Amino acid sequence: MKPPVFDYLDPRTVDEVLDLLADQECDVAILAGGQSLVPLLNLRLARPDVVVDINRIAGLDQVAVTDSAVLIGAMARLSVLEHDGNLVEVLPVVPEAIGLVAHPQIRNRTTIGGSLCHADPSAELPAVAVALGATMHLRSSAGVREQSAAEFFQTVFTTSRRPDELLTAVEFPRHAGFRFCFEEVSRRHGDFPFVGLCLGLRVANGVVVEARLAVCGVAERPVRLAGAESAFVGMPLPSDLAPVLDAASSEVEPPTDTHGSSSYRRALLRTLLRRAVARFDQGVQR
Ligand SMILES: Cc1cc2nc3c(=O)[nH]c(=O)nc-3n(C[C@H](O)[C@H](O)[C@H](O)COP(=O)(O)OP(=O)(O)OC[C@H]3O[C@@H](n4cnc5c(N)ncnc54)[C@H](O)[C@@H]3O)c2cc1C
Repeated sequence: MKPPVFDYLDPRTVDEVLDLLADQECDVAILAGGQSLVPLLNLRLARPDVVVDINRIAGLDQVAVTDSAVLIGAMARLSVLEHDGNLVEVLPVVPEAIGLVAHPQIRNRTTIGGSLCHADPSAELPAVAVALGATMHLRSSAGVREQSAAEFFQTVFTTSRRPDELLTAVEFPRHAGFRFCFEEVSRRHGDFPFVGLCLGLRVANGVVVEARLAVCGVAERPVRLAGAESAFVGMPLPSDLAPVLDAASSEVEPPTDTHGSSSYRRALLRTLLRRAVARFDQGVQR
């Protein structure tokens, strides 16, 4: 199919983008990696008046690591992040989850900002952002706004980003003492998962002291499972996971669709939790 008619602009600065987004008269779509937007245009599910291509703006793809956080520019390509030695060292769950997104050719174009703004409820990176408590950095001509990942993802393909805002970066805090991993089940490698989860545990003397858990594919947005996190606390490893599995199961009401039933997804969640915890028993090696 062919896309509807639209104007195409490729500004060179963030300020130019913000001026274009501030125009209330026209519907503007930002083009990042184009791996979701272009199919949406071709299927005529998106009909913007103007497509603003942000690929020629310098500096939006930088990665900055400090003692407390990792700031990743919205235009950083997944294939670059996947192999970024610094990131593999300080925030390995991000490259790990990226390795499960689509295929290398798609990761060559896909940007982290595009993946987060597209907000597919099955997508890996939004779940990682929620589990780690990431902060979205948004800019408009009115100024700068920061929003937690938990509030950013609202429902299917919908975020709290306002039409005049550009996501410029995402900030992942570094959780001292935690180790994180990502597990998912998909039909084929590179497909969106039926269910995926990002689990982080802080373990001291063989006992879980703190847990962070977010799941994708079980709701209209990535969800953090506070009940399961609480059930983890005080649990020796290895251990009978029944309290955690039961808490997690009771916290979700997964959808039934053509890919699987609600009960199948709930069973997957239990299986994935077992797999993830087994990795902690082995020191979270891949
Ligand atoms: C075959 C195939 C398999 C895939 N498998 C997976 C998978 O397993 N897991 C997964 O998570 N994804 C998967 N994807 C989706 C892919 O990762 C998309 O590219 C991604 O969701 C969007 O990133 P993008 O950079 O291409 O954004 P685009 O397609 O350019 O944009 C997506 C949306 O975000 C908006 N946007 C982009 N950047 C910004 C910004 N900086 N500020 C504000 N708004 C912005 C755009 O306007 C648009 O609405 C797959 C895609 C394909 C084609």
